[in-house]
Amino acid sequence: MEVRLQNLTKIFPSRNKKNPEEVVAVNDFTFTIPDGKLIGLLGPSGCGKSTTLYMLSGLQKPTSGRIFFGDDDVTELTPENRGVGLVFQNYALYPHMTVKQNILFPLQNLKGADKLSKEEMLDRAYEAAKLVQIDELMDRKPSELSGGQQQRVAIARALVKMPRVLLLDEPLSNLDARLRLQTREEIKRIQKETKITTIFVTHDQEEAMSISDLIVVMKLGVVQQIDKPQDVYDNPKNLFVAKFLGTPPINVFDGEVKNGSLFIGEEKVMNVSNVPDKKVFVGIRPEGFIVDPKGPLTCKVQNIEVMGRDVSIVSSNAASQNPIIRSIVDADVKLDGAEEVKFSLKPHKVFIFDAETEERIYLDEVK
Ligand code: ADP
Ligand code: MG
Repeated sequence: MEVRLQNLTKIFPSRNKKNPEEVVAVNDFTFTIPDGKLIGLLGPSGCGKSTTLYMLSGLQKPTSGRIFFGDDDVTELTPENRGVGLVFQNYALYPHMTVKQNILFPLQNLKGADKLSKEEMLDRAYEAAKLVQIDELMDRKPSELSGGQQQRVAIARALVKMPRVLLLDEPLSNLDARLRLQTREEIKRIQKETKITTIFVTHDQEEAMSISDLIVVMKLGVVQQIDKPQDVYDNPKNLFVAKFLGTPPINVFDGEVKNGSLFIGEEKVMNVSNVPDKKVFVGIRPEGFIVDPKGPLTCKVQNIEVMGRDVSIVSSNAASQNPIIRSIVDADVKLDGAEEVKFSLKPHKVFIFDAETEERIYLDEVK
């Protein structure tokens, strides 16, 4: 099912008189989610992810804009009539019911032509339970399950009605690190098997990168970039996106363009022939540094960490916005107690942003 968001906007009125500002939780969101894909909706807390999801589900009405599932305009439809499955961070299972009863519950309220016989309901419940691999636990109560198992039950309950669209709001946040990894693989598998168009909300960039066909990055209600995960990482549109994706994070320097050359401090690090003279921010991914005695960028070595195949050099530079610069270089690099390290830079790992707008400046040299 293709899902189309058209100029979707949600404004919450101010709640108290002291602060009359309304909140624009989602601002003019337009995007067509291709059929059968898994979309990661990514951004910091408060950027409007849940509000977007609630509008898609019908739990909240948009202030303006429309939502289409295929050719159906569903903007005015109630949640029950949209055919969506919803999964939340806190599994929200009925504690007094067994797993089986929890999964059956959405089917028992179906009316009219959708009404199912008892056998049909049980078949569907077991099918959903098998898909998330909890069919052995059907007679347990939620309190007798681990967090990961409870979340599987919640996913089965969302799937049992065969939804047209699956909406997941930070579904892994309550799980410990290992279960989080395992469950996210499971969700990916289930989505591939069922081919249900899925929107997965998370504030965790690594989670979004690993699970999504496409990532939507949001900030303060406004979509910043929509691209494949690797493309968002390799080609961020602005400084916010560049900083939000990647571990270790991108290193940001104050820089300046003078006569077609990019300077960090007094050092000329790159040619940028198409950029007019101005102040810029220079983002360099950790893997963008090469230790090179003839390199143009000089940093003070603070610490060297060996991490298996790679070496992480922790250094500093007066123009760096962060107290430390983290670069990841080959393990065979020798620094032997040096106080200074010189780097040359991989041009496609260096991004330049306008210091005023923080928008990316694209370079003729790197195409
Ligand atoms: P996220 O899920 O990305 O953390 P939300 O969509 O929950 O963000 O919230 C987006 C913004 O809208 C936040 O500033 C939040 O405080 C505000 N907001 C969310 N729900 C309400 C509400 N019911 N009333 C007023 N403001 C709200
Ligand atoms: Mg939220």
